[in-house]
Amino acid sequence: TIEGFFKNSEPPKLIATANAEMVMLANEDKEFKKILDEATLVVPDGAGVVWAARHQGDNMPERVAGFDLVQELLKKSSQKQYKVFFLGAGRGVAEQAKLNAEKKYGAVNIVGIQDGYFKPEDEAGIIAKINELRPDLLLVALGVPRQEKWLKKNLNQLNIKVAIGVGGTFDVMAGNVKRAPLWMQKANLEWSYRLFLQPQRIFRMMAIPEFMLKVLLGKKD
Ligand code: UDP
Repeated sequence: TIEGFFKNSEPPKLIATANAEMVMLANEDKEFKKILDEATLVVPDGAGVVWAARHQGDNMPERVAGFDLVQELLKKSSQKQYKVFFLGAGRGVAEQAKLNAEKKYGAVNIVGIQDGYFKPEDEAGIIAKINELRPDLLLVALGVPRQEKWLKKNLNQLNIKVAIGVGGTFDVMAGNVKRAPLWMQKANLEWSYRLFLQPQRIFRMMAIPEFMLKVLLGKKD
């Protein structure tokens, strides 16, 4: 389990949460594909991925939304004081996310925060700051695939146990973006709600029907 990773020492573990758009992106972007292939854990964050895996006969229990996974880990942090660092999202967003998490889960041990709109020349300083704080868990919200690429590039110089690319999680936690109602989540329709809130996603989501077609035709690449 992920908690087990907190107790182990190096090397840092990379966890990715994958939805159908990301799988399609991995088809085109070989660097991104390699990152997913080499990740310690890829969590099926998307009804499409679970459906596809089952279609291919894999035993895939259920969808684990990246958002829910992060909430579980923050709860654990408040119980066991695991150290968490928030990297990414707009200025003030992760701060608000932290406040809301503390209201919900109590004393979550968030040791540091850095927004995701830094310049390349600030990167070394940010890594140094993270390493000084030695978080068990680094949550990175820089968008897909930038967050995964950033992590892969820097993973071995980071003094952390586990890193997860968390996409829009801080925006949702801060209350800036809403998740779909529970019934929609359960009916595997969360993607349609996202599309409704952020119509610009249509271009990314065009990949979904193509993804389904590929699965049905049984092509691996
Ligand atoms: N983001 C960031 N720096 C960037 C680009 C994006 O911090 O240069 C943040 C953005 O503010 C948002 C998060 O990355 O909080 C992910 O956004 P999105 O909802 O597009 O996530 P995705 O679906 O791509 O994972």
